[in-house]
Amino acid sequence: ATPTSIMAGSGRAAELGVLFKGGEHLETAHTIDTVVLDKTGTVTKGAPELTDAVVADGFGEAEVLAGIGAAERASEHPLAEAIVRGIRERGIELPQAEAFEAVPGHGVRAEAGGHTLLIGNRRLMEANGVQAPPDALEALRRLEEQGKTVVLAAEDGVYAAMIAVADTMKPTSRQAVERLKRLGLTVIMMTGDNERTAKAIAGDAGIEQVLAEVLPEGKAAEVRRLKERGRKVAMVGDGINDAPALATADVGMAIGTGTDVAMETADVTLMRGDLNGIADAIEMSRRTMRNIR
Ligand code: ADP
Ligand code: MG
Repeated sequence: ATPTSIMAGSGRAAELGVLFKGGEHLETAHTIDTVVLDKTGTVTKGAPELTDAVVADGFGEAEVLAGIGAAERASEHPLAEAIVRGIRERGIELPQAEAFEAVPGHGVRAEAGGHTLLIGNRRLMEANGVQAPPDALEALRRLEEQGKTVVLAAEDGVYAAMIAVADTMKPTSRQAVERLKRLGLTVIMMTGDNERTAKAIAGDAGIEQVLAEVLPEGKAAEVRRLKERGRKVAMVGDGINDAPALATADVGMAIGTGTDVAMETADVTLMRGDLNGIADAIEMSRRTMRNIR
């Protein structure tokens, strides 16, 4: 491609809110055959809300929820923010957590109100020998099938509560995914969330392929694996833990409404924050490269 055509292509892309950090990325984007999308904040709005809180028999509802709120107040995870807000909205005051530890990709552990609290996904409970009763597991399954993220809580090693959090789809995601497929691209959604929730959300977005329960440090490895199989990969994400995967991909694309770290690492920033920018970027690259060769 000539410098002039690259400059013209970059300029037209910028008008669509697609910012290429350098001409070389505009030149590479036409080779992409696989698009990997982060779930939270990329396919969905990333503004989760607490929808259900079910406290186990034998536990005081307000007390258990207060403990969970206290523990999550110390966490910076978007799920934690939704849980804290939801519990406060129920008029429950949160005590101070005494000790706090984040377990990345799993949840949190804290001391609050004289109890040890463990809050997080099924994997975290299993690793600590906490067993939820069958009726709770049944409820969990139902909530996950609705695309909700379910967080379990144990008090002093005993299952105590289940909290469900729902995120909403960006209104443009489904149509944008459709457009990517029409361009002949393979679309894959990748998330740390559980398989059932991930599949429900992917289904709503028209995405058939899902990589779920990927640990924060595993996202880049998944991108590398795809590349080793000969795929040309665009990774699209918004979060701090997407940054290594954005750097590993052939083209990293950051959502412009996401974290600074993602934008600093990516090759392209999608200023509009909706997934149509991905197709815009690839189409612009195809057009630019076709004109010159
Ligand atoms: P994602 O970015 O897709 O949410 P993470 O790796 O951050 O993935 O988290 C994976 C899972 O770990 C979450 O879906 C949740 O079940 C659990 N988890 C992580 N952080 C917390 C937290 N602060 N409180 C409760 N659960 C958490
Ligand atoms: Mg995200």
